[in-house]
Amino acid sequence: MDCVRRAAAEAILIEDRRTGERRRQPTDALFVFIGADAQTSWLPREVICDERGYICTGRDVTDLVASQNGEWPLERDPFLLETRVPGIFAVGDVRHGSIKRVASGVGEGSMAIAFVHQYFSEQQREAEAMEPRPVGGGSAETLAPARVS
Ligand SMILES: Cc1cc2nc3c(=O)[nH]c(=O)nc-3n(C[C@H](O)[C@H](O)[C@H](O)COP(=O)(O)OP(=O)(O)OC[C@H]3O[C@@H](n4cnc5c(N)ncnc54)[C@H](O)[C@@H]3O)c2cc1C
Repeated sequence: MDCVRRAAAEAILIEDRRTGERRRQPTDALFVFIGADAQTSWLPREVICDERGYICTGRDVTDLVASQNGEWPLERDPFLLETRVPGIFAVGDVRHGSIKRVASGVGEGSMAIAFVHQYFSEQQREAEAMEPRPVGGGSAETLAPARVS
């Protein structure tokens, strides 16, 4: 691509790199969108990424796990922004299928905080359910030995 200008942009020259054909497209302005790559090679393999390195979350985790005969370790479905690893969330451009706008990245960030709270509550409920219950149905307080002064 080439840009034709005198005082201001007038036209761009567009070349089809397969055929070599060139055409002139009149224009007043030129916006360069350079694109982006996901820098996710450092992530552990358990955090599933798509073929371009973007992190799968929510429904995409379920779909990919199903298509690859993988496993999602919990009974519940992944939260909307949760990766294949429960309790790890991804937001913004790095997420597969993201909108790629500042506002959506910021919004997803605040949503992720709510999911983190939900995840911690879930962990706490599970930990409480695992605690040994006192025999006889009484509460831990009622069965506690009386303090001797
Ligand atoms: C050319 C261009 C024009 C755009 N124009 C607009 C626009 O007009 N309006 C709009 O809303 N959006 C625009 N966007 C999109 C917008 O910039 C992104 O959606 C937004 O910045 C995404 O925010 P993010 O926090 O998800 O990612 P980023 O802003 O990319 O932030 C990720 C950060 O993580 C850092 N990082 C990466 N790897 C590591 C690592 N291993 N350790 C530590 N840090 C790391 C990076 O250096 C970077 O600072 C544009 C994007 C491009 C490329």
